[in-house]
Amino acid sequence: MLPLVALVGRPNVGKSTLFNALTRTRDALVHDEPGVTRDRNYGVCRLLEGRPFVLVDTGGIAGEDEGLAGATARQSRAAAEEADLILFVVDGREGASALDDDILRWLRKQSKPTLLVVNKSDGIDLQTALAEFARYGFGDALPVSSAQRTGIDALLAKTAALL
Ligand code: GDP
Ligand code: MG
Repeated sequence: MLPLVALVGRPNVGKSTLFNALTRTRDALVHDEPGVTRDRNYGVCRLLEGRPFVLVDTGGIAGEDEGLAGATARQSRAAAEEADLILFVVDGREGASALDDDILRWLRKQSKPTLLVVNKSDGIDLQTALAEFARYGFGDALPVSSAQRTGIDALLAKTAALL
C-alpha cells in the first residue's frame, strides 16, 4: 500500500489548488467560495525520486459541527486520522486566524508527523508570512504558492523524506 498524505486546513486556504499542483492534475475543484470540496478527493503523487504516495484533498475544517460544514469537517478529520503524514495548509496572505489555531490544537492531539505549508506566498513578504505562524512551533514551515507552482518541488522532497 502506498503511504497516505492528507491536506488539512480551513476552507479557502488553497488546499485544492495545492492538490492539483502536487498531483499535476486539475481534478480538484477550486473555487472562490469557501467549502467547495465537500467530500474526499484522492490522487497519486509520483516523484522523480522516492516512493509515490496518495494525496487526499478534503473540504476543510470550518469550525462548525452542524449541517454540511460539520459533515465536511468530519470527513477532513477522518482523512487526517487515516493519513501517515498531514500537510497543514494555512494562508500566508491572511495570516493565522482563530480557526487555524483550533485546527492546530486538534492536530497536536493527533501526534502525527505534520508539515506546516504556508500557501499563497506569491506577492507577499515571505519572512512576514512565516513570522505570522512562528508561534505554531513548526521549525521548518514551507512557503509555497500553489497558484504559481513555487515551492512545490521543495514540498514534495520534504514530504517524501518523511514517508
Ligand atoms: P480550498 O478551499 O482550501 O480547497 O481552497 P481552493 O484551492 O479552492 O482556493 C481558494 C481560493 O484561493 C481560490 O480563489 C484560489 O484561486 C486561491 N488560491 C489558491 N492557492 C493560491 C495561491 O497560491 N496564491 C493565490 N494568490 N491564490 C491562491
Ligand atoms: Mg477545496
